[in-house]
Amino acid sequence: MAVLPCANGWYSTGWRRDSRVWDYFDFVEEDNKSICKVTGKECGNRFAGKFPTNLRKHLKKNHVEVFKALERKEEEKQQNEKAIEESTFSMYPIEH
Ligand SMILES: [Zn+2]
Repeated sequence: MAVLPCANGWYSTGWRRDSRVWDYFDFVEEDNKSICKVTGKECGNRFAGKFPTNLRKHLKKNHVEVFKALERKEEEKQQNEKAIEESTFSMYPIEH
């Protein structure tokens, strides 16, 4: 798995795509744990590693409102990205 350096630590490929989930979790590199911070303090569930799939499951099960908000955000993000792609294509038409 490729690891890219980043100002905020590091990202592995395929992680950034799910980065919205990290609005609700902190990753503690030295413990290799992801900590739920949905409630600001109370929940504090910890998960080994940084697997968005696990984190999403936790949100879905324990913080369903947050999970819905996350899904909405991701949907918006995808639509934005699509819009950007489309506008890029129209700005720079591919010549055949
Ligand atoms: Zn939680």
